[in-house]
Amino acid sequence: MKSKFMFSFVALLFGLLTIVGAASAQTITYKPSLAHKDGAMAYEHMKYLTYEIGQRVAGSPNERLAEQYIKGQFDRIGLKTKVQPFTYTSRGKQISSSNVIAYKPGKSAKQIIVGAHYDSVSVGRGADDNASGVGVLLEVAEVLKNINTPYSIVFIAFGAEEPGLKGSSYYANHMTSDEIDNTVGMINMDSLAVGDHMFVYGDEGEAGFIREQALAIVNKKKLNVGTNPGLNPDYPAGTTGDWSDHAPFKAKGIPYGYLESTNWEIGDLDGYTQTVEHGEVWHTPNDSIDFIENAYPGRIQEHLSTFSVLLTDLLKFMDKTSTSK
Ligand SMILES: [Zn+2]
Repeated sequence: MKSKFMFSFVALLFGLLTIVGAASAQTITYKPSLAHKDGAMAYEHMKYLTYEIGQRVAGSPNERLAEQYIKGQFDRIGLKTKVQPFTYTSRGKQISSSNVIAYKPGKSAKQIIVGAHYDSVSVGRGADDNASGVGVLLEVAEVLKNINTPYSIVFIAFGAEEPGLKGSSYYANHMTSDEIDNTVGMINMDSLAVGDHMFVYGDEGEAGFIREQALAIVNKKKLNVGTNPGLNPDYPAGTTGDWSDHAPFKAKGIPYGYLESTNWEIGDLDGYTQTVEHGEVWHTPNDSIDFIENAYPGRIQEHLSTFSVLLTDLLKFMDKTSTSK
């Protein structure tokens, strides 16, 4: 089947202009050796987004800088890349944001969407939420670039998640029914760095195959990743709430997987309270690399490395038929 990923000439031209414009946002240098150390590239991307750019509030100039940086990285990696602009209205004002999309062909034209939002709230630096997810997204895109994966992969950095899943909703609502049928699953990453424990979630029942395959990899590779224990009846074991970019895809009937670090055994048992010692870090001034490294030395590296290995293997070995029949 023909891929639904189409470049218009205008989009291509816009892309070329964006590359030129992004040159100054690419001053960071990558040592080739980093690409062979799990999580190392992800950490470099996270540092760039939080130290060089900082807060990335939806619609702000900094969110555009982050968009250009991510676009520039997908281009550097060598993937077909485009920017999908969208607008939404907030308190009577029209806000402009965008999704950054990169396409990697696989053995099958059937596709998996892998996404992470790149905007942040207006406190802290959005290190955990969600430079960490974007870092792993970019690292895994680079690690897989020459690997013939079972499914084609659409990597998406979503804009404007924080004001209410604006980017992911725009993308999902503009998928044709053929595209939806052609999409095997959607894997979301949001806030990977600071939570006490690492988790993978998925749908209930057969549609939970992404979580099940991830947990099989966890078991085989002895990774320190679990799933929601289900202490709160609102969020049954193995699943999570509709509060991040997987939700608009789930609403279209696309099975989801979701990577996160948090703590389900404290607070309201809803996964919002991320740590025993410091409670919630996301959406607070503590959401910076400096705070997290000081409070939990080595945790960022451990988490980025673990999630990078897990997502890489998941995309390398994904087989929808093995657990859905
Ligand atoms: Zn987030």
